[in-house]
Amino acid sequence: MALLRTKMELRPLGNTGLRLSCVGFGASPLGNVFGPVSENDAISSVREAFRLGINFFDTSPYYGGTLSEKMLGKALKALEVPRNEYIVSTKCGRYAEGFDFSAERVTKSIDESLARLQLDYVDILQCHDIEFGSLDQIVNETIPALQKLKESGKIRFIGITGLPLEVFTYVLDRVPPGAVDVILSYCHYSINDSTLEDLLPYLKSKGVGVISASPLAMGLLTETGPPEWHPASPELKSACQAAAAYCKERGKNISKLSMQYSLSNKDISSVLVGMNSVRQVEENAAAATELALFGNDREAIAAIEAILKSVKNQTWPSGIKQS
Ligand code: NAD
Repeated sequence: MALLRTKMELRPLGNTGLRLSCVGFGASPLGNVFGPVSENDAISSVREAFRLGINFFDTSPYYGGTLSEKMLGKALKALEVPRNEYIVSTKCGRYAEGFDFSAERVTKSIDESLARLQLDYVDILQCHDIEFGSLDQIVNETIPALQKLKESGKIRFIGITGLPLEVFTYVLDRVPPGAVDVILSYCHYSINDSTLEDLLPYLKSKGVGVISASPLAMGLLTETGPPEWHPASPELKSACQAAAAYCKERGKNISKLSMQYSLSNKDISSVLVGMNSVRQVEENAAAATELALFGNDREAIAAIEAILKSVKNQTWPSGIKQS
């Protein structure tokens, strides 16, 4: 099918003034997290994404032990466009060596990230997977350190990321208003798990921007299935496999339907999907375009929901016990 070309929708991100493309480019695959990716493929995927209107790129020093940041940096440089035409977020506090949310480490971390990304500033710096640190340290030490980085101009906005949704309310209830600009939630707004929805009114009331990552549930909602390390239960994996097979038999693609499901909620500023080939970029951009033109395929989504009923909103443990 010929790819439809219309403008990628931009959505406001909380009170930041940023306007993110509704499809965001998740760069964890550029760190070989889902299998090897050549430098050529990384550069051409980013180029195609930008050409199709994707202006938001997310990475972390943790992805591929800094490889993702380096690859994304090269690919963004190769675009040869003014810096203000794209929005970059990276993270701090989670590294191949482990977690460290101390003020000292995150302050050093941004300089390392900027060097790898070949940038003077990042738009968003996010504390990465805060459920693995002390949430009180995040509130009392990490966020204040990030506020200093904001004043220095190395970062424009501050975010927090994590899997359990309660970590967001814990932190946002305890920091001064406006101290946290953005949250990044993952695996909680897909056909199999839509629990983020309940938190959206709270986040809106605080003026906090919402990025929803992993619309394909880190590979569960794809025809090829998840990587070896995927933490889902065997039951959830096999239900998703059955849903993918159901779609395939009917000439439909579970990944496209899943993208469209996640993109439908406009209170989510950007749906961050991991991509490692021009083909995936084109498919995911086309999913957004087709959704804008024709709406959701409600019948197919209802059928997938029925197949996934017994595992709906099933998640997996993440993080340490907070004292
Ligand atoms: P995802 O749900 O986006 O799935 C990615 C997988 O799906 C990859 O294997 C990719 O190659 C494949 N894929 C992408 N488009 C496809 C298509 N059209 N058809 C078939 N397969 C397709 O999971 P993700 O990559 O983990 O999440 C997206 C991004 O969100 C990450 O790259 C990262 O930037 C961010 N993220 C952040 C956190 C965090 O901060 N804690 C957690 C998860 C994800």
